[in-house]
Amino acid sequence: MSATQRPASVTDELLERLVARVPGRTGATWKLTEVYTGEVLVELPQSTEQDIEAAFEEARAAQRLWAQWPVERRLEVFARAHTLLVDNAHTTADLIQVESGKNRRMAIEETCDPPMVMSYYLKRAKRLLAPKRHGGPVPIVSGSTEVRVPKGVVGIIAPWNFPFATGLSDAIPALIAGNAVVVKPDNKTALSPLYGISLLEEAGLPEGLFQVVCGDGPDVGPTLIDNADYVMFTGSTATGRVIGERAGRNLIGCCLELGGKNPMIVLDDVDVEEWVESALFGVFGNTGQICMHIERIYLPESRYDELRSAFVDRASSLVIGAAYDFGPEIGSLVSPDHRDRVASHVEDAVAQGATVLTGGRARPDIGPAFFEPTVLEGVTKDMLAGHTETFGPVVALYPYRTVDEAIRLANDTDYGLNASVWSGDLARAEAVAARIESGNVNINDALATAYASKGSPSGGVKQSGVGARHGDQGLLKYTDAKNVAVLKKQVMGPRPGQGYDAYVRQMLSSLKLMRRLRVR
Ligand code: NAD
Repeated sequence: MSATQRPASVTDELLERLVARVPGRTGATWKLTEVYTGEVLVELPQSTEQDIEAAFEEARAAQRLWAQWPVERRLEVFARAHTLLVDNAHTTADLIQVESGKNRRMAIEETCDPPMVMSYYLKRAKRLLAPKRHGGPVPIVSGSTEVRVPKGVVGIIAPWNFPFATGLSDAIPALIAGNAVVVKPDNKTALSPLYGISLLEEAGLPEGLFQVVCGDGPDVGPTLIDNADYVMFTGSTATGRVIGERAGRNLIGCCLELGGKNPMIVLDDVDVEEWVESALFGVFGNTGQICMHIERIYLPESRYDELRSAFVDRASSLVIGAAYDFGPEIGSLVSPDHRDRVASHVEDAVAQGATVLTGGRARPDIGPAFFEPTVLEGVTKDMLAGHTETFGPVVALYPYRTVDEAIRLANDTDYGLNASVWSGDLARAEAVAARIESGNVNINDALATAYASKGSPSGGVKQSGVGARHGDQGLLKYTDAKNVAVLKKQVMGPRPGQGYDAYVRQMLSSLKLMRRLRVR
């Protein structure tokens, strides 16, 4: 097989089988293409309002039975699914690559995310979902139990940049908690989540529990939100606002994982060799289409020239290419439209006085959506690349004089998703991290350490999101807490013959006594 020949596992038969489960009663389809060539791979059915309503009905029926399974039995499905997902990582990566155009390293790393999420909740879910006893208002005779009840059917809307991870990983805790899921992937990247769901079903997930609907966001979104009991959205801040408004009107909960304009602060004692490789990945990994990737780097003035030239030299030597093997360090952008958006940020910066230190051009000679790794200098806040998310292989370098100035500049953004701090002295880096307004901060790494730490909730602050995935909250958000309280004997209120004055005196002194005895 030549490096650019479509992978052998991506057969027409597989593609037809995958899209067959997407409902589309009108017969309307969307042409899903191979990014490296622009060739049509398969016609993806487009779901109507009635299709979406029917998907929810089926999911709801399956959920009623699934919620009755003991947690241990549900977890057995995910233990088997973990093995299947890992064993089929290469086919998954093939599908991720054909539909997104990312390079092989990123596609394989993406396949690891759902198994990592599964591993965490396989260990933790039983304890999280177990009823918890709490004390009641009157010791001994009263108590309450916190019972975790699944929300019902969770609607998931996923983006194209990590289609397999965002299509599956957020569904895993929802399903473990006893919910059904209806997912809407991006049209461009529906194949890998469809394949992942087929593996979950092979592992024993009941049929009907995990539904997929497809279509343009504004067409499919409203019906999906109106039928869901909770919405998990990953995508841009602009769309997140639309989703949040509709969920709010319906009085259902939602988690919004949105965009970023993520800064990296490099302190003056950094080890240049170690920093430069990680910074390159943080900026250019997934061709810059990672929500947590770095778009602004603040370098100490005292070492600016040295750090800039190390970074630019290495960026200009990155191997860019269209291949299904591990050759290229940089793959394609997802589409020609997105390439144009990235190019428009660079053109706008240059027109307003910024300098291109390396890159800056589209590469139609390699494929329809390729764009060079690009490093800019002299970017100001009023330029597009200075204040809004580019979401491509473009970064701006800035010199700073004092650490206070670097922190002020890093925080001077509406976003707050991820940040990175580099120093040879961990205590120094931690002190800087504490002052950064961001849902995630990576010390001596760009992004992966925070994202892969599945025990800690990971989300955005400011305009980067509401709520979080991972950690206990990443599962509990898909449940309602039911407070079941028991009073074994009616002891509230005055005893027969006791006046209100005496009762109130007794109650107030009991409050003090309980506090002293630390009775809850
Ligand atoms: P997008 O907001 O355009 O689309 C995301 C999803 O929402 C797609 O499935 C799309 O079809 C759907 N959608 C669009 N309009 C809709 C509407 N009105 N109603 C319902 N659904 C609608 O985002 P994108 O361009 O696909 O993805 C890139 C963005 O996602 C970037 O901003 C990136 O930072 C962000 N992102 C965030 C995270 C995170 O965890 N914070 C992770 C990945 C990507």
